[in-house]
Amino acid sequence: MSQRTFSIIKPDAFRKGHAGAILAEIEKAGFRIVAIKKMSISKTQAEGFYYVHKERPFFPSLTTFMSSGPMIAMVLEKGNAIADLRKLMGATNPANAEEGTIRKKFAGSIEENAIHGSDAEDTAKFEIGYFFAGYELA
Ligand code: GDP
Repeated sequence: MSQRTFSIIKPDAFRKGHAGAILAEIEKAGFRIVAIKKMSISKTQAEGFYYVHKERPFFPSLTTFMSSGPMIAMVLEKGNAIADLRKLMGATNPANAEEGTIRKKFAGSIEENAIHGSDAEDTAKFEIGYFFAGYELA
C-alpha cells in the first residue's frame, strides 16, 4: 500500500546547488512527488516544526540554520515511503552514513545534513500539514 512522507532539501544543500541532484536520487528510488515548493521559513516557523527537539542543546542553532535561506519542502509517495526515505537519507551524522546515501554524498555536518525525512506515520501527518494545505495535495 502506498504511503506518504514529508521531506525537506535543507538550506545547506539548496545553497550548494544540490537540490536537483537530490531530487534525482529521490525519483530514481521510486518516489512520486505529490507536492513540492521552494520556501524560506522564519526562526519561529522552524521552532514550530522542530518543537520535539526544543529541550536539546542544538535547538537554537538548528532553528537558525533551518531559517537561514531557501529550502525545498516536499510530500513524497511510494510503498513503505517513510522507512525507505530514511534509508536513502542515511544516518543523521554524515560521518556514520552508509555509502550511496544522500547524506553521505551531500551532507557537510551533523547539523547541516542536506535532507529531512519524517520518522513515523504520526510525524509525517503533522509535518505534511505544517507545510501544505489540503488543496496542494490533491
Ligand atoms: P534526523 O531524523 O536524522 O533528521 O535527526 P533528529 O530528528 O535526531 O534531529 C533533527 C535534526 O537536528 C538533524 O537532522 C540535524 O539537522 C540536527 N541535529 C541532530 N543531532 C544534532 C547534534 O547533535 N548537533 C547538532 N548541531 N545538530 C543536530
